[in-house]
Amino acid sequence: MKTAKNKDQLQKVRYSFLKILTGSDLSRRRLPFMAIESSNPGPVVWLTGCIHGDEVTGIVTIQEVFKVIRRQPLLCGSLYAFPLMNPIGFETASRNITLSKEDLNRSFPGDKNGSVAERIADIIFSTIKETNPTLVLDLHNDWMKSIPYTLVDPNPGSTHKKAYDLTLKVAGESGFIVVQETEDVKGSFSYSLIENDIPALTIELGESYVVNEKNVEYGVKSILGILGYLNMITKPTEDFTYQAPEAAKGKTLKFTSLPVSSASGIIRFLTHPGDIVKTGQSVAKIYNAFGKLQDTLLCKQDGVVLGHSDFSVAFPGAPVMAFGVF
Ligand SMILES: [Zn+2]
Repeated sequence: MKTAKNKDQLQKVRYSFLKILTGSDLSRRRLPFMAIESSNPGPVVWLTGCIHGDEVTGIVTIQEVFKVIRRQPLLCGSLYAFPLMNPIGFETASRNITLSKEDLNRSFPGDKNGSVAERIADIIFSTIKETNPTLVLDLHNDWMKSIPYTLVDPNPGSTHKKAYDLTLKVAGESGFIVVQETEDVKGSFSYSLIENDIPALTIELGESYVVNEKNVEYGVKSILGILGYLNMITKPTEDFTYQAPEAAKGKTLKFTSLPVSSASGIIRFLTHPGDIVKTGQSVAKIYNAFGKLQDTLLCKQDGVVLGHSDFSVAFPGAPVMAFGVF
């Protein structure tokens, strides 16, 4: 029988820091780093969270996965994590690095002589690359009203086929609806990893700002399922599947924020995140200050509502909802 004490002896556990910058008051800012390494060689998986400072559920999800792996050691391989990639944004509950107002997730692969964000990105990217990783799972959050889903980058072309194929395969094992990004993602963490032939995907764990315990639970189950798929742990006895609409299961949807509003005004949403919507269906109405209807937003394609805006204000051309379309 194994005791709790010798369980961790089958694997090496390390919690430490990487230095990112020194403040004007000479305070040292650091990046928390977590590692569990099995004595048996195997896949190398990275979990990363809070690249956007207001997206906090991933931090706790990573902590919970590490608690599980400390109780039930890895069969092989290594699990590494940067649970809090943007501590400066986190402390001010803001998406960007507050000091320089930059989006860390548009600053990759980074530059050690570049801006604040590019320097932090360089430390993150080069540390990950050195470990020759099998997979990187980047945990994000979306609008306050949103469902969890897995987001994969657009196809980077045949030169990165191997990394992209594994990305799609793992996305299919995540248990969430799989949505493919369609917008330009230059400089994003996951796309830069794929461009460096490192399989990487994003898991959007519902709402930002506050840790949602239900989404933590889904995230932990999804990640353990993926580690089981890679044979790093015994496969969980129950397969995790997020209670997605039947029509969306097993399909890769395309991300879109169309239709957008054509007018300024007050948005009244007619559908909820997770709803199936049909082409031509009214999904939101825009009213002026006197309650006169300005626009009715009609669905362009059949799909699933992923989320809607945190605010009820509409501007011409501004996205108000996100969809995964078939
Ligand atoms: Zn994000």
